[in-house]
Amino acid sequence: MDSINFGMGENQNGGYDRIDRWNDEITAKLTEHYTAILHLLGEDGRREGLKETPARVAKSLQFLTQGYGTDPADILKSAMFQEDYEEMVIVKDIELFSMCEHHLLPFIGKAHVAYIPDGRITGLSKIARVVEAYARRLQVQERLTVQIRDCIQDTLKPLGVAVVIEALHLCMVMRGVQKQHSVTTTSAFTGGFMKSEKTREEFIHLIGTTLR
Ligand SMILES: [Zn+2]
Repeated sequence: MDSINFGMGENQNGGYDRIDRWNDEITAKLTEHYTAILHLLGEDGRREGLKETPARVAKSLQFLTQGYGTDPADILKSAMFQEDYEEMVIVKDIELFSMCEHHLLPFIGKAHVAYIPDGRITGLSKIARVVEAYARRLQVQERLTVQIRDCIQDTLKPLGVAVVIEALHLCMVMRGVQKQHSVTTTSAFTGGFMKSEKTREEFIHLIGTTLR
């Protein structure tokens, strides 16, 4: 049985749904495993601060991976409109929270997405929700970038798509592999953004990143 708690709904950033969703059976199993993990770490799972932790983490992890239950193409299809606008549409500074699949630690940052319509546009908040649907899974930043690009390209069939992600990986920062505040940037382009350096430059200028 699924429990769904509706949070704040869409925020002003445009469509980051805050919905907690967990499966009771999976929660029970995960709780069991996290209890064992705490024990293996030498912790006393019965002490007050930790008593509810396994169940809490079990729910939290399902929230952080809820993108598996979402079809990002459906999000775009739910708001597609015929429109003759053929200029670049940019949604920048989309907040990004994802989980590195190698260390199960967060990477956080911003996504900037642009496309050049070819007779069809989508709701701006839908772009942010596509980012979220792919981010709420176990990820690597490179694949996340390409998945967002391909979903928009294949669904909306625009004249070009550009995706830039800038993110801080806690697995790097906390483990001392990387200088603190060092940001990883990835990008993926199709169509006009790939073919025309001028279009790409315009996009990069407009999102204000240091990427070259
Ligand atoms: Zn990692």
